[in-house]
Amino acid sequence: MLSNLKAQPVDKILGLAAAYRADPRDTKVDLGVGVYKNAQGLTPVMRAIKVAEQRIVDEEQTKAYTGLAGDPAFSEAMAGLILGTDYPRERFAAVATPGGTGAIRQALELIQMASPDATVWLSNPTWPNHPSIMKYLGVPMGEYRYFDNATRAVDFAGMMADLEGVKAGDLVLLHGCCHNPTGANLNLTQWGEVADFLNARGAIPFIDIAYQGFGDGLEQDAAGVRLIASKVPEMLIAASCSKNFGIYRERTGVLMALSPSSAEQSLTQTNLQFLNRQNFSFPPDHGARLVSIILNDDALKTDWMQELEDVRLGMLDLRQQLADALRERSGSDRFGFIAEHRGMFSRLGASPEQVEAMREHNAIYMVGDSRLNIAGLNAQTVPILADAIIAAGV
Ligand code: PMP
Repeated sequence: MLSNLKAQPVDKILGLAAAYRADPRDTKVDLGVGVYKNAQGLTPVMRAIKVAEQRIVDEEQTKAYTGLAGDPAFSEAMAGLILGTDYPRERFAAVATPGGTGAIRQALELIQMASPDATVWLSNPTWPNHPSIMKYLGVPMGEYRYFDNATRAVDFAGMMADLEGVKAGDLVLLHGCCHNPTGANLNLTQWGEVADFLNARGAIPFIDIAYQGFGDGLEQDAAGVRLIASKVPEMLIAASCSKNFGIYRERTGVLMALSPSSAEQSLTQTNLQFLNRQNFSFPPDHGARLVSIILNDDALKTDWMQELEDVRLGMLDLRQQLADALRERSGSDRFGFIAEHRGMFSRLGASPEQVEAMREHNAIYMVGDSRLNIAGLNAQTVPILADAIIAAGV
């Protein structure tokens, strides 16, 4: 049986990480995989997480199963974080999932159960795992323009033109903030236009939010999602705690659904729980418990928010340093977009050949589509990268 298996393609981003590790040059710079790193190149455990973990060690009385939805305290805390305190509880259903990826996967399976012919529309480009999971599940896929390679900003006119193809009942996947891989984001006016368009078309927003707090701040990064939620009858939200709580390996995420009215709430909730049961039964608890401990404790929450804010401001500072270094070297403002982009990533707009040249000559590792992980930089490597970008002729 096992010999019948076909070889699977190596995940490009994970393949890049392996190539980086194998590179003997000590000047090498890793701007590849999407993990936050501090100036020392470490992905630290956040202070509030350490305290919450100690609290679990001291106080937890049992490791018995939770519920199929996980602990409701976690979903409620996450709803407050993403949707704000006055979200419509009577229309809200949610389950804890293994990471944001698990939430996306469960959302796609829910869509298949409810609406097998619906097309799910993805931005071009998007996080490569979106089309990969959809292809694996056989979910019909559509694509809308998103990034203007000339301005390195959102191609909003192109996006809206392509969304004209959306049918009633289709889903449109939108990155809640900090678009991966481009770093270019909708402004609030554009979010409102998208919401009105989806309503007029009878299409459903499907939000993937994996970097809340990495862009303009915790509240600001949720503003688009909240605006959509205030306008549409139903929506799906797949959220990840990997980045903003720094608990990548704990696999902590949540899938939320807003139903059109309270009448469908329990139908949605039981279907979400059914899906968890079929796929892995009970969701992981450790990371979810850490998150709900922090969000329900004023002192811990304040400390977490402070540390997250330092992370965010550090990345903004690196963006500015890189944009300044490139302005000096290019004698132009054409790299100003790096300071405008938000989140951990920017798409540089370099060709695959230029990306390859930077890897070969300067030991700089970025994804082939020229996505940079800004958090992979520090004050020493910013000038090295700026030199390499100019030398490659970007
Ligand atoms: N969505 C996007 C856009 C992402 O970049 C990621 C992480 N790379 C995720 C979802 C999922 O994250 P995780 O499963 O690690 O929580």
